[in-house]
Amino acid sequence: MNLSTPIEEIPRVSPQYQKRLKKFGIKTVQGLLFHFPHRYEDFSNIIPISQIKNNQSCCIQGKILEIRNSRTWKKRMILTQALVQDYNPPAASSQPSLRSGWAPETRAVKVIWFNQPYLIKILKPGDIISLAGKTNMGEDGLYLSNPAYEKISNIQYPISSLTHTGRIVPVYPETEGLSSRWFRFIIRPLLVQLKDKLPDPLPEKIRKEFKLLPISQALWQIHFPTSLNLAKQAQERFSFEELFFIELAVLKQRMKIGSLKAQSIPLNLKALQRFTKSLPFKLTDAQKKSAWQILKDLEKPKPMNRLLEGDVGSGKTVVATLAILNVIKARHQVAFMAPTEILAKQHFKTAWELLKNFNLNIGLLTGKEDKFFSKKLKNEMVEISRKKILEKTKNGEIDVLIGTHALIQDQVRFKNLALVIVDEQHRFGVEQRAKLIQNSKLSRFYRGSRQAGKIENYPIPHLLSMTATPIPRTLALTIYGDLDLSIINELPKGRKKIITRVISPEDRNNAYNFIKKQVKSGRQVFVICPRIEPTNNKQLTINNKNILGWAEAKAVKEEYEKLSKQVFPDLKVGMLHGKLGTKEKEKIMRDFKNKKIDILVSTSVIEVGIDVPNTTVMMIEGTERFGLSQLHQFRGRVGRSKYQSFCFLFTDSPAQKTKQRLKALIDCEDGFALAEKDLKIRGPGDFMGHRQWGIPDLVMNSLKDVFLVEKTRQSAKEILEEDPELKKYPLLQRQLEKFQERIHLE
Ligand code: ADP
Ligand code: MG
Repeated sequence: MNLSTPIEEIPRVSPQYQKRLKKFGIKTVQGLLFHFPHRYEDFSNIIPISQIKNNQSCCIQGKILEIRNSRTWKKRMILTQALVQDYNPPAASSQPSLRSGWAPETRAVKVIWFNQPYLIKILKPGDIISLAGKTNMGEDGLYLSNPAYEKISNIQYPISSLTHTGRIVPVYPETEGLSSRWFRFIIRPLLVQLKDKLPDPLPEKIRKEFKLLPISQALWQIHFPTSLNLAKQAQERFSFEELFFIELAVLKQRMKIGSLKAQSIPLNLKALQRFTKSLPFKLTDAQKKSAWQILKDLEKPKPMNRLLEGDVGSGKTVVATLAILNVIKARHQVAFMAPTEILAKQHFKTAWELLKNFNLNIGLLTGKEDKFFSKKLKNEMVEISRKKILEKTKNGEIDVLIGTHALIQDQVRFKNLALVIVDEQHRFGVEQRAKLIQNSKLSRFYRGSRQAGKIENYPIPHLLSMTATPIPRTLALTIYGDLDLSIINELPKGRKKIITRVISPEDRNNAYNFIKKQVKSGRQVFVICPRIEPTNNKQLTINNKNILGWAEAKAVKEEYEKLSKQVFPDLKVGMLHGKLGTKEKEKIMRDFKNKKIDILVSTSVIEVGIDVPNTTVMMIEGTERFGLSQLHQFRGRVGRSKYQSFCFLFTDSPAQKTKQRLKALIDCEDGFALAEKDLKIRGPGDFMGHRQWGIPDLVMNSLKDVFLVEKTRQSAKEILEEDPELKKYPLLQRQLEKFQERIHLE
């Protein structure tokens, strides 16, 4: 028996349980042993029966005097009732009995189990048992309700070897048919068996430096702790281990990218200067600095892997356009990917306007619509067939191909792709990003000649990702640790502060009146709702979490009806959500841009990148459903013009946490600071949907600790510098490989 032994070979795991475990994702001994409890119940204090009080969690031990089944008077439920007497009963004159009721002076207590009639086959009068559970007051006195039980006579002393009672008891994340009791029953003998046979993947040096428990001890303590403090130390060890693996993985990734080749793109100062002069504004210092970092990366003969972070409205697109121009002037191609069709099209138009005078061909490739602009066609946008677009991309006629994830389809081939830009990169699924990177790494242009030599010898495109979601420092050092960062930390001058307010239900009408006035004066309004359809289903689950109260979440359709018919009957109200067809969405966005719509009710689809500067009010319903960073994104949709803008926040949640979060949003305009706050308030899990990465919950806590993360990164670096292939640490290398299969890094 070892860690990789399949569950089928574990004694006592029946085929039925094998099936359940597999459904739960557990396939081996390792899977079982690393299925950690999510909390503990402390039943380590065993108290004499005479001392138990009502409504108390306690553990008692004693002898079963009687045990029998009966039905409740409604006959719906079978009760198993037992009478348990203290282990060392006094020389009692009369034996208590169930029939004569409960007699306190005899130190016996009644125990009741519900719907477990089989218990009378397991527990017999005369058995010595240990019970852990909660006391209740019944008609005839105190009783212990549904306690965990185990026979003491069956197991080896000392009592500390108890499993379900009389100790700190682990409680596991459960699923149908896999109870905590069952996990304890299976895991404990495994631990006993493997105790001294588990090799520790963490080098001793590291363990000493960070004062970590060795693996066997840690596994034992995380499942069956002798104290809560030791349980915590065990958790810390595993949390560290995960963090350490993440660091090793990203640092290795960095080294790997650093060893690859890319086209070196010379700096074309002349063209760049001409471009910046053609802009209707001056670049901010932060824009210049980021652009410079990117252009410097492009000069190098190894692939850039850079993330451009900048708050909404900070002007990332212009910076990206500088890079695009530079690459095209060197006669290479650029692919520019955006998460939605609306956004791809917006970029297409922006690029077209910004690069009008630079003799370029820009293509647009989305799911359904293909547009192609050519200088030869008199600065016009022309619709051409998809086939033509692909052809012109392949023969190099198109300089920049802008699009949605349609760009990662297999038919798309470039002649000389040197730069890939991904906008709002966090909006892409992990799979899509992986595919893009993989595809662009092995750019199809090179595919035919791959056999001719080693793939490492072929240049791969530079990669520039962009995001408006600021990444807290710890995440930048871990999950994004293989990327270089450029940060635009200032907004273009002259932007007015957006006035942010939480609107109480009584003030709702005032807010609507305010909106009417804004529209009358020519401005436009966004209304964001958390859902598309109204729902009656109160049991919606997301990521296996039961999200109660979604029923109250404002649904776009409902809100649209209400606003267009009742609240603003004389204004033009439109509706936008992800379920609409592409053409429809496009039309609505076009109408909104052209002021044919005054108020646009939308789901979070408009969160990313939409630029309609005439909009001055952002009204958000159900704010408790959104993360701070996301709310900040919404807010960034307004405040893009000379007019004063407003952000109105609505919430149905009285929770303190919600208030705290909204206050943070009002007080703070800095997306980075908000992201840090979000991380603190909600934890990294919620922060950006860690399930996407497959990162276990355990490590999430460490991700709040900048100092620990920095120190861990340093240690990982030292080990890799000394031994890049981890030859001296074969176990660590093997575990790392397994880890990399499980986790998805950027
Ligand atoms: P984001 O970083 O959110 O993608 P955009 O690139 O869409 O921001 O830019 C937001 C708006 O600001 C655009 O209308 C753009 O033309 C404008 N802009 C960008 N840089 C500047 C600048 N330095 N000064 C003034 N306006 C700018
Ligand atoms: Mg943008």
